[in-house]
Amino acid sequence: MPNDLFEFSWLVPERGYELEERVLAAPGNVYQDANEIEQEKELVITDYRAQGSNFKVFRPLHDYPALFRTFAATPTTQEGVLSFANRYGMLGIPRILAGPAGLMSLGSNFESLRDWVKHIQEIKQAVNVWDMVSIADIKKLQTHVQWSEDNLVFFVDDQTRVLIASPRFHPELLERIPKGNVFLPSVVFLNRFVNERLREKVDPRLLLDVTNDNSRTLRFVPATLLSSLWLQLAEAISAKKKHRQCAFCQQWFEVEARGVRSDKQFCSGACRTRAYRARNEKEPIRSGTPKKQKTRKRKKT
Ligand SMILES: [Zn+2]
Repeated sequence: MPNDLFEFSWLVPERGYELEERVLAAPGNVYQDANEIEQEKELVITDYRAQGSNFKVFRPLHDYPALFRTFAATPTTQEGVLSFANRYGMLGIPRILAGPAGLMSLGSNFESLRDWVKHIQEIKQAVNVWDMVSIADIKKLQTHVQWSEDNLVFFVDDQTRVLIASPRFHPELLERIPKGNVFLPSVVFLNRFVNERLREKVDPRLLLDVTNDNSRTLRFVPATLLSSLWLQLAEAISAKKKHRQCAFCQQWFEVEARGVRSDKQFCSGACRTRAYRARNEKEPIRSGTPKKQKTRKRKKT
């Protein structure tokens, strides 16, 4: 179930997006001439094709309660990224093109494939730590938390080495963590990691509720699809949510929320029906004649 405190809508063009080689402006990069710019080409998602298209409005936090997991599992390939963008929209992290203003096509959005890969990896890293923390996988956590002789605690993995606490850095925290403990430093790392990505990305807003006597309601509104994914993850951590991948469409869905367990294998009734039908269509071919005759009969009537 989505949290009632949050509200977020996002647009997806029916025509979808394109990947193109472009040169994006980077802070501090000054290009001497067109040739130099040419060498900096990278793959960029553009909305050229989307322009003039019909847009579908959706509410990610509501329609896909575990979209952050789908994003974390997105292959960091051209196809993987483009297929996520075509289904759920751009992340909302536009960059501008490098070059003389006259050549820039104003009004278009460009998102770098490299940025996407970075964001997928970050959310994957956070989900990974959360998964270890939520089942208290001490053995795995031990490979990530380091205690030095002089009481410096670090969280480490392939991408990060972060100081969690020391006698000088958050000594009050150090006092509360028993020496050698690996669970609490991991929790603190995860909290900070998520909080940093939400900072100044979610606004409290008063919204007008036209369906409810024009009353005003207070909602937290993420600025972009990317921040909505981090917010969704933060809420899932806070509510101790559990997720599973649909056995039919591979979409992630909630299986346990607010203490109610479920052994659901499918994200929806539609997927359950489709999986059941797919099984029935396959079986007669595999298991020989008796069932085949049955299906034939059904088709005739
Ligand atoms: Zn499904």
